[in-house]
Amino acid sequence: MPDGDSQDAKGQSGLTATALFGLCPRCGAKGAWAGLGAFAERCGACGLEFAPHEPRGRGMYLVVLPVTVLLVLAALKLDEVVQLPVWALIALWGVVVPLVVTLALRFAKAAALMARLDKEGLL
Ligand SMILES: [Zn+2]
Repeated sequence: MPDGDSQDAKGQSGLTATALFGLCPRCGAKGAWAGLGAFAERCGACGLEFAPHEPRGRGMYLVVLPVTVLLVLAALKLDEVVQLPVWALIALWGVVVPLVVTLALRFAKAAALMARLDKEGLL
């Protein structure tokens, strides 16, 4: 039985590294992401396969929907506090929305990937 504490600590820092910087959860090499929210086929350094473990389909709505609702609420609140001109709103939300949704998706996908890899003993 592996040491639970060190596994958890490693998993936590590994999740952020994988989600934000695309580091391989096993060897730490870069290149886990092929696109903004899509995993690469496999790790170029250690050959760990990402694509077969990528969560697809409706499960991701559970991540995207609450994030979208929060963004809408944030937009309404911001509009209440400061009356920004329309061009500023378009510029602001045009950057913030894709960024936040991509980050949320990456964290969710990285967490799912690592949980699956961990379950199969590949980490
Ligand atoms: Zn690797």
